[in-house]
Amino acid sequence: MRRLLMSVCAGVLASGAAMAQDETEGWAIVLHGGAGVIERGDMDADTEAAYREALDVAIRMGGELLDDGVAAIDAVEAVIRYLEDDPKFNAGRGAVFTSGGRNELDSSIMRGSDMQAGAVAGVTTVRHPISLARAVMERSPHVMLQSEGAEEFAASLELELVDNSYFFTERRWASMVRKVRELGLPIPPRPEGAPEPEPIREGALDLMEREHAFGTVGVVARDRSGEIVAGTSTGGTTAKRWGRVGDSPIIGAGTYATSECGVSATGTGEYFIRLNVAARICTYIEAGQTPDDALEAVISRDLTAMGGDGGVVILAADGPHWAFNTAGMYRASWTPGGEPVVSIYGDED
Ligand code: ASP
Repeated sequence: MRRLLMSVCAGVLASGAAMAQDETEGWAIVLHGGAGVIERGDMDADTEAAYREALDVAIRMGGELLDDGVAAIDAVEAVIRYLEDDPKFNAGRGAVFTSGGRNELDSSIMRGSDMQAGAVAGVTTVRHPISLARAVMERSPHVMLQSEGAEEFAASLELELVDNSYFFTERRWASMVRKVRELGLPIPPRPEGAPEPEPIREGALDLMEREHAFGTVGVVARDRSGEIVAGTSTGGTTAKRWGRVGDSPIIGAGTYATSECGVSATGTGEYFIRLNVAARICTYIEAGQTPDDALEAVISRDLTAMGGDGGVVILAADGPHWAFNTAGMYRASWTPGGEPVVSIYGDED
């Protein structure tokens, strides 16, 4: 895997290209599980191993589906559903809390060949927001639905609905309480149906903060027919207020796909929205820039200059790439003929 590692004022930009030119070999998959200030020594060995294991399972699941000839849209949905069910990630179960003490989930998906897309924002009872985003794309005349209307649509399709407390995890709750205290806001009541309180290590909370709410998930896959699909799912940012929506459900900002390029982003959405990060990367590539040059321009230069933090995983004609200006990003890629690559820190492939 080709690597580029350079210091920039706001941190480190790291990017890598897939080990093989896969233009003729068919499928490819790349995914992320969030970016942030994840440094060696921050995590105990068991926690690090658990993240690596989850990323490994996810990338193998996606790669095996694609190898079996499954469509990219199905592979992306299946892998994101798996990550939404894993409480380590800030998507589905394990999502961060709003300052009001509930989980509001955002997700989107886009198919490159016909540039069809679906997105949902602020849903509170849909177990798998990515499946609802897909349903918006395939079964509604719209591209983006939000809050109660999106939930009504989910109910009409008999997608799985859960109580909001299904998404509850103690560490995300504790992290929101800490942030709400810092903001001088009232601490919301513990949600009905949440489990009995458990103690949380302060060190674990510090890490979560630096991980920056951490654990948004995104997958970009190309199937054997050449179809590229990108999808993203998140709980957003800790203690978000006033119905805040980030980049993850915004087509062009957090998720984008064309017939030649697919992107899923993670980071502070306010920057990714204004820079239109996902679409901008594809536009640069389609205008003839190499993926490394496009990532350098959008992540290293523009995002960093704006003060934004985060990263992307992308799939271009020559295979998967990633870039981030944070210390780390949970990430994995796989192309035929190689072994899956699973990485966390900026100094890894
Ligand atoms: N991009 C997400 C948002 O701003 C958060 C993240 O990726 O960590 O909602």
